[in-house]
Amino acid sequence: MPMDLRPNDRVEMKKPHPCGETRWLVTRVGMDVKLTCTRCGREIMLPRAKAEHGIRKIIREETT
Ligand SMILES: [Zn+2]
Repeated sequence: MPMDLRPNDRVEMKKPHPCGETRWLVTRVGMDVKLTCTRCGREIMLPRAKAEHGIRKIIREETT
């Protein structure tokens, strides 16, 4: 079952970016997932399966 990933979610990755940050902002979800590093702003595209494998958890601030 695919992970419930949505644009504007923040995710914590298992491996830190070279800049030291582990949290990324999800900007696009499809066959590929586009992520922006929340510290240095670098953007990466990963195949969805690979992205899901690398994500430790989804950080979603529910607005109620
Ligand atoms: Zn970074």
